Amino acid sequence: MVVEAADPGGQLRRAQNRIVDYPGWPDVAASELAAHLIDHLRRTGVRLATAAAPVRVDTAARRVASPVGIWEVDALILATGARERRLGIPGEHAMYARGEVWSASRDAGRFRGLPVAVIGGGDRALEGAWLLAEAGAQVTLVHRRTSFRARKQWRERALRHPGISVIAPAVATRIEGEKQTRAVHLRSADGREYRVPAAAVLVRIGTEPNLDGIEGLPTREDHGVVAVDRWGRTSLPGVYAAGDVCTPAPYTSVASAVADGMRAVKAVIMDWECGCGILRHDHDKPL
Ligand SMILES: Cc1cc2nc3c(=O)[nH]c(=O)nc-3n(C[C@H](O)[C@H](O)[C@H](O)COP(=O)(O)OP(=O)(O)OC[C@H]3O[C@@H](n4cnc5c(N)ncnc54)[C@H](O)[C@@H]3O)c2cc1C
Repeated sequence: MVVEAADPGGQLRRAQNRIVDYPGWPDVAASELAAHLIDHLRRTGVRLATAAAPVRVDTAARRVASPVGIWEVDALILATGARERRLGIPGEHAMYARGEVWSASRDAGRFRGLPVAVIGGGDRALEGAWLLAEAGAQVTLVHRRTSFRARKQWRERALRHPGISVIAPAVATRIEGEKQTRAVHLRSADGREYRVPAAAVLVRIGTEPNLDGIEGLPTREDHGVVAVDRWGRTSLPGVYAAGDVCTPAPYTSVASAVADGMRAVKAVIMDWECGCGILRHDHDKPL
C-alpha cells in the first residue's frame, strides 16, 4: 500500500521542464510521466491512500497514521522525497504566501527588463539565472561562497553572461516588499549591507529530505538524507528508504528513485523470505 500525504506525483507535479533523462521516455512532460507512474501503480492493484494531510509515521511501532486510516505494517519504505531548502529570513515566508513561487523555465518571460535575484551556487541556481538572463531579465546572482558547486556547463554559461552580475560571498538577510517583492537585502563577508532591487527572488540553495512527522528517525548522513545500505535498508529493522529522501544532490533523479524503489521492495521480500522475518537482518553492521 502507498500512503501519500498530498497529491500523488511528488516533485513531478511541480516540474515545468520536460524530462529527457528517464530511460524509455526520450522526452516527456513531467506531469505526463507522473500520470503514467500513478496509472501503473493502480494497474498493479497496489492500494493508494491519499491522505490530503500530513501523515505521521512511528518507525518503532511501524505504524502509519493519517486522517484516512491507521495502519500497522510489517515493513515500511520511506519514499517521502525532498523539498527546496528555504533561507529562513524575514520576508521569505510572506513572499511564498503571496504566491511568488517562480520557475525559471516557466516564468522567465515575465521578467524581461526587470531586476531579479537568484540565490545559490549550484546547478539549479546557475541554470535559473541563465534562463532568466536569456529572457532579458537583469539578474543578480548571490552566493555565500566565491566558488560555485554548479557543473562547468552552467558556470561557463551563467558566469560569463552579460545579463548576470554576481555578488559573492554574500548572504541574503531580508526580502523586502508588501504586496510584491521589491528588493533583497544582503550582507557581504566584510559586513557591508546592500539593498538590491528585485521584482522576484528565486531561492535555489538545494534541497532537504521530507522527514516531518516521522517519529524515530533512522541514522542520517551528513547531508541530512537517510543513510541506507545498497538495498535500501536503513538503520532501523523493517524500515527501508528509496528516492530523494536517501539521495543527496546532485544524484537525485526520477530514474534513481524508481531504481531505489525496486531494490527496496525486493529487499523487503528477501528479508521476509529468508525465513527469519524482517526483524532479523543484520542491524549491528554499521551503515
Ligand atoms: C523543478 C524540478 C525539475 C526536475 N527535473 C528532473 C529531470 O529533468 N529529471 C529527473 O530525473 N529528475 C528531475 N527532478 C527530480 C525528480 O523529480 C526527483 O528526483 C524525483 O521526483 C524523486 O522521487 P521521490 O519519489 O523520491 O520523491 P518525490 O517526488 O519528492 O515524492 C515524495 C512524495 O512523498 C510525499 N510525502 C512526503 N512526506 C510524506 C509523509 N510524511 N507521508 C506521506 N507522504 C509523504 C510527498 O507529498 C510526495 O508526493 C526535478 C525536480 C524538480 C523539483
